[in-house]
Amino acid sequence: MQFRDLKKQYEVLKNEIDAGIAEVLASAKFISGPQVKELEKKLADYVGVKHCITCGNGTDAITLAMMTWGVDEGDAVFVPDFTFFSSGECPAFEGATPIYVDVDKRTFNLDAEKLEEAIKKVKEEGKYIPKAVVAVDLFGLPADYNKIRPVCEKYGLLLLEDGAQGFGGSIDGKVACSFGDISTTSFFPAKPLGCYGDGGAIFTDNDEWAEYLRSICVHGKSAEDKYNNVRIGMNSRLDTVQAAVLLPKLEAFEKYELDDVNKAAEMYDEALKDTCLTLPLIPEGFVSSWAQYTVQLPEGVNRADLQAALKAKDIPTMVYYPKPMHLQGAFEGTDSAEADCGVTEVLCDTVLSLPMHPYLTENDIKEVTDALKGYIA
Ligand SMILES: *Cc1c(COP(=O)(O)O)cnc(C)c1O
Repeated sequence: MQFRDLKKQYEVLKNEIDAGIAEVLASAKFISGPQVKELEKKLADYVGVKHCITCGNGTDAITLAMMTWGVDEGDAVFVPDFTFFSSGECPAFEGATPIYVDVDKRTFNLDAEKLEEAIKKVKEEGKYIPKAVVAVDLFGLPADYNKIRPVCEKYGLLLLEDGAQGFGGSIDGKVACSFGDISTTSFFPAKPLGCYGDGGAIFTDNDEWAEYLRSICVHGKSAEDKYNNVRIGMNSRLDTVQAAVLLPKLEAFEKYELDDVNKAAEMYDEALKDTCLTLPLIPEGFVSSWAQYTVQLPEGVNRADLQAALKAKDIPTMVYYPKPMHLQGAFEGTDSAEADCGVTEVLCDTVLSLPMHPYLTENDIKEVTDALKGYIA
């Protein structure tokens, strides 16, 4: 069994994807071909924002947003402690100090009350200037922007939505990657909407920022003349081939893949509801795009042994994430290592992600849940 079955997806979409790639090869417009603009328009429409700027990957997308806001040394950027490294790496790359904040035990997402406490503490200490919040849509579930946005407004902080895992999720019909002042996503192959290599995108309604982003992702070019470089930028573009792969994939995502991962999640919920496992919680009004289906093991279950037992039955599982951000070696000895994140520490020891993708069958889910239930019983 595959953890995320990209081969099966390719089998289903092969004709469209092969034709799209062949078209790029025949046109030889490998960089900034027309498919890139077409994709940006479709992504912006889907998300419901004015501007979509594609780029090289989801990490660059966050860095480009930080550059646009002038995030720099002396700034504090608040980041959930339970996330993929990029969420904190990018503000640190710009010289800022990530301040790690604990998450909610059931949704895995940034805890708005603890966020406010952390902002107050940084203000009181006076060493750093609170500048921005990176909220992460972990495992496909949008963070609680109804609570996070007012905290950002109260303290005058910019809000970045790291939607690398969140594309396709929503809150009361408002779609993920529209919640930040700038929002970002990743098209890494295993993300909810993935390409066949690296890729990313940035979303915003702000015209000025959009123009700035279009400049800094191509060497700081001026809007009029590509060979007039008016600022220092990066080289971070989505290849035309990747845009051609994403066009039919976005169509499948909208048509059925998002529904199908939600059906798979329902089947998992149903099969596992009367066990000692803690299941992922999707609050009222929220929709997840299920980048991961992550359960929490009760005390006394040895996770490594369980994984080995499942692997022996050809059932792959993953641990996202084994280590809190504030304990990562890169932050050792820095102020980022000072964090009060007990929930994250427990989650890192107890979470287990099960196979999840739109092409899972009822049989696959029965196989996984029977094996899991058999082991924990
Ligand atoms: C994958 C991921 C990123 C980085 O995306 P890349 O395209 O791999 O650079 C950033 N944030 C989160 C939460 C992610 O899961």
